[in-house]
Amino acid sequence: MPKKLRLMIPGPTPVPPAVQEAMSRPIMGHRSKEFARISEGLYHKLRQVLQTQNQVFILTSSGTGGMEAAVANTVNPGDKVLVLVTGKFGERWRDLARIYKADVIEMNFGWGNPVDLDAVKTRLDAEPGIRVVLATHNETSTGVVNDIAALGAMLRDRDTLLVVDAVSSLGGIEVRTDAWNVDVLVSASQKALMVPPGLAIISVSPRAWERIEVCRAPRYYFDLPAARKALAKWNTAYTPAVSLFYGLDAALDLILAEGLERVFARHRKLAAATRAAVKALGLELLPPEAAASPVVTAVRSPGGTDADALRKVLADRFGIYFAGGQGELKGRIFRIAHMGYVDEADILCAVATLEVALATLGFDVALGSGTAAAQRVFLEARGEA
Ligand code: PMP
Repeated sequence: MPKKLRLMIPGPTPVPPAVQEAMSRPIMGHRSKEFARISEGLYHKLRQVLQTQNQVFILTSSGTGGMEAAVANTVNPGDKVLVLVTGKFGERWRDLARIYKADVIEMNFGWGNPVDLDAVKTRLDAEPGIRVVLATHNETSTGVVNDIAALGAMLRDRDTLLVVDAVSSLGGIEVRTDAWNVDVLVSASQKALMVPPGLAIISVSPRAWERIEVCRAPRYYFDLPAARKALAKWNTAYTPAVSLFYGLDAALDLILAEGLERVFARHRKLAAATRAAVKALGLELLPPEAAASPVVTAVRSPGGTDADALRKVLADRFGIYFAGGQGELKGRIFRIAHMGYVDEADILCAVATLEVALATLGFDVALGSGTAAAQRVFLEARGEA
């Protein structure tokens, strides 16, 4: 029998049947009235999930396209841009800003640590004229969540745009775009939003529009004024991924029907159970617990072994896919994603098979100890989420 695929990587994530079904509907013309009608509803739902009154755009690209759109529309050559790096995706912001010829100031907090807010404040005070801050909400490469609310509060009275990568957080961790003062928020379809890869989402504040309108950086496909013109008719500037629009619409229905608070509570609970299990097995988390992500848990390889060997056992034997480490953490950590269409049974399955894999590789593991720890979290949380 072919292996049952159990994806526990931080994107692409499993797709719920209702989303799958929606995507199988016949293609329609993207300039049709019917498509405009679907889009109007879709944008309305997206604004609820982003908790924003700002205009929101859907671009047909992966999340990185959304990041490029953010930089290409807000950063002029020579602009001072502060980049807060906590892992691979912070580095991506830095690389993008460099390519768009910004004067990049990089603050690197190390892989596994969150942004140090006091250090950022000191830097902002010491370095006048910073035009844009590029930050990552959920740093997928390390399983760290950064405090965007605090960053937004810090920038409220400065002439500095806050641009946030919420690619792996939106739909799993609360994102309060307006309350947090986020000028440009970027996300993507294939993570907690439970849709296949192919759509980027980007919101733009009135303050950001002022910059965009006079931005001299070259861009074509990702030109946001062109997207805005098309959006006036609930349309897109270029041919959108029509089926993915149907899928996103269905996924947002699922999220809003469950209720945002419940969705976030479910992710927190799944993360708490995963962390409890990992610790009970004697393994070490990468980030400090206070900054640990509700959507992905990063675990150090036990006893200096190659995490990729462990992942191979899980994939070959059980069809369970955990993610490996990226960049400097390659082979040194593994990451268990619990974002999107994930429930308690998925976590119990992941933990129980992790125990078998550890034992297979010769580790002295008390079988069932991780599973019991996760079970206890679920029993204690009954009725809460
Ligand atoms: N930012 C974060 C935080 C991510 O997790 C990812 C995808 N892993 C990206 C950006 C890039 O998105 P994509 O792979 O869709 O281009």
